[in-house]
Amino acid sequence: MKTKKTIGIIGGGQLGLMIAEEAHRLGARCVTLDPAADAPSAAVADEHIVAAYDDSEAIERLCRCSDVVTYEFENVPGEILIPMCEKYNIPQGYKPLYDSQDRLREKQNALDNGLKTPGFEAVDDEESLCRAVRKMGLPAVLKTRTLGYDGHGQMVLKSEEDIAKALPLLTVPCILEEFVKFDFEASIVMVADDKRVVSFPSGRNVHRDGILDLCFIPAEVNPEILERMRLQSEEFMRRAGYRGILAIEYFVRGEEILFNEMAPRPHNSGHYTIEGTTTNQFRELARYLLGEELEEPKLVAPTVMKNILGQDLEAAEKILREGHDKVYVHLYGKSESRPKRKMGHITFTHLTPEEYQEKWAARFV
Ligand code: AMP
Repeated sequence: MKTKKTIGIIGGGQLGLMIAEEAHRLGARCVTLDPAADAPSAAVADEHIVAAYDDSEAIERLCRCSDVVTYEFENVPGEILIPMCEKYNIPQGYKPLYDSQDRLREKQNALDNGLKTPGFEAVDDEESLCRAVRKMGLPAVLKTRTLGYDGHGQMVLKSEEDIAKALPLLTVPCILEEFVKFDFEASIVMVADDKRVVSFPSGRNVHRDGILDLCFIPAEVNPEILERMRLQSEEFMRRAGYRGILAIEYFVRGEEILFNEMAPRPHNSGHYTIEGTTTNQFRELARYLLGEELEEPKLVAPTVMKNILGQDLEAAEKILREGHDKVYVHLYGKSESRPKRKMGHITFTHLTPEEYQEKWAARFV
């Protein structure tokens, strides 16, 4: 009898939860590691290790009991992961994480591998900030180089007076970026093995307070732009030598496609794929990890994904209780709900953006 393979996942948030669910459907076991005993993945994982991400002994324990290991947490320190990559089967390796952990390195890497980015400058203190502002002009966006996410650690500078307000951010190395007056934001999720790259259809992403709020798939834009986005993203992934899963977020301004950031893990904008496409981002990642043939996804129907933050939770629970055809409510089981914390998402298939606005938008604050 074939023994079940075990996938180890560093991180136990909603991404770990959804990877584990799909891995189970493919007949694999899952072990997750997260500092919280009640992390979302703990409810479904076959084993859950409670430990900090810098606990090398615990990460090694995870590696030892797994056939293959991946990560859903982006800030696993290199000092811990690099030696593990040498000893254990972590096929995505540390490089895509390393390349994405620092916004300066991330943008330089995108440029080096054929993508276009907004203008950017490294800034470390008031003097370099003033210099960068003179060079780039305003408005511009100041971001911390590391550990920023969902709009945390960033500030838009609109006028010279904002420079003084931005100084508290400069206690850590930062990057000043050109403020892009984009027409829309879009992202792409890809999974690659040695033979091929499969890409999920790109949606139009709408952010609120720097956090993804809605995805409309397919993005209702010139298909030529979407095709170019797919081709250049797949080429980037090959040139950078990445395997496994990668998501890239872009700004689209006229004909220009500008790289914003990337993540070598399943992506929030790809959650719609669970019901909206014939195979989903979590399953294709699991297939890659298990050494199975990848499957090309196809969009089932126009789909809308609404993120459920703390302030949307009551409305989402009500929609779940009511029960609606082609409306899929995912709640991650987080014990504490807070405004702006991602608590779940809802996928509406067979729904256009106009229909969403008409039927559902008013349900959420
Ligand atoms: P990030 O954490 O870099 O993805 O930023 C969160 C959101 O802030 C993005 O999805 C955009 O909506 C907005 N944003 C970030 N950087 C820029 C920029 N350079 N120009 C315009 N908007 C930006």
